[in-house]
Amino acid sequence: MGDLNLTSDLPFWTVRNGLLRVYPPLDRDIRCDALVIGGGISGALLARRLTRRGVDCVVIDRRDIGFGSTSASTALLQYEIDTPLHELQHRVGPQAAERAYRAGLESIERLEKLAGRQCDFAMRPSFQVATRRADVAGLRKEYELRRQLRFPVSWLDRKELRECGIVAHGALRSRVAAEVDPYRLTHRLLRLACEGGLRVLDRTTAVRYEQARGSVRVMTDRGHTIRCRRVFFSTGYETQDILPDTVVTFKSTYAFVSEPIADPCWWKDRALIWGRAILMFMRVRRGATAFWWVERTIMFSIRRGGMGRLRRRRGGWCASFTRCFRI
Ligand SMILES: Cc1cc2nc3c(=O)[nH]c(=O)nc-3n(C[C@H](O)[C@H](O)[C@H](O)COP(=O)(O)OP(=O)(O)OC[C@H]3O[C@@H](n4cnc5c(N)ncnc54)[C@H](O)[C@@H]3O)c2cc1C
Repeated sequence: MGDLNLTSDLPFWTVRNGLLRVYPPLDRDIRCDALVIGGGISGALLARRLTRRGVDCVVIDRRDIGFGSTSASTALLQYEIDTPLHELQHRVGPQAAERAYRAGLESIERLEKLAGRQCDFAMRPSFQVATRRADVAGLRKEYELRRQLRFPVSWLDRKELRECGIVAHGALRSRVAAEVDPYRLTHRLLRLACEGGLRVLDRTTAVRYEQARGSVRVMTDRGHTIRCRRVFFSTGYETQDILPDTVVTFKSTYAFVSEPIADPCWWKDRALIWGRAILMFMRVRRGATAFWWVERTIMFSIRRGGMGRLRRRRGGWCASFTRCFRI
């Protein structure tokens, strides 16, 4: 075997795009109405929204902009949240649950407008596959509910899936889903917001917070402070650092990126494919690089150029998810 580099601490999007823009670090004490801590996609969306509403806003990030988990994301845009609608109904009631799902649906359209033409935004169908027979009943229940509420979904059985080249027991197909370059989108949003008066400071870490009446004082690693009326924590996975109690523990997450594929026509409709059995998400990017994201500590069995058991078969392609991994 030649030089096989299986692990890297370089996230795909930053390698692909490089440093799109640098911002200065904080070098004096400042004031603002709203401070957003974290310049990933969440912070960028929030800062743009606030700035458009005329709020005097500052974004800080301890790294370069977009270098948090945004730069490692596979950036599948799905309106589904992690909890299936039928389960969410039990937790928050049918109306609130439906509202959450509809908000997700609308957000994909909005993101398309926000992304413009430079962020590789593309609408894609999404297949949530039942890789184990035991998962079919739950997925089917989810499908029936969403169909009843007129969400844009259809059901694919084993045979129909095989025609798409997928080996699984059934799948819920959502018509509305998309993919994007999340790093570019983050930079684009911040650039647009800066035109409206946003101040962005990177390589600036918030280390301490003090609340006074009507304001918050945020101390940074270089000794300067930011006094603001409101502070928003868009600190992604690192939010745990500032919480008094432990609400989350982390397992390993892996993003696999293949070499460019000459012609991915066998990847039916370039669909987004995901499953809950081993929380896994896959897509083939414009420009034809496949990548997928697996959340758990796993052993990955590699065959043929890193594509695992994804293999061409009868002109279609076959993804045998559960068998593709030795867990
Ligand atoms: C491998 C992988 C794949 C993923 N794929 C998807 C996907 O396909 N679809 C999807 O929707 N989601 C995906 N996610 C989740 C993804 O991370 C989020 O959707 C999104 O990118 C989170 O953005 P964020 O802005 O909230 O967090 P981040 O991008 O992590 O941004 C948080 C920022 O806060 C900064 N920060 C933290 N603490 C401080 C501090 N004290 N002071 C200053 N700055 C600070 C960090 O430097 C960072 O830049 C994936 C995650 C991983 C790890």
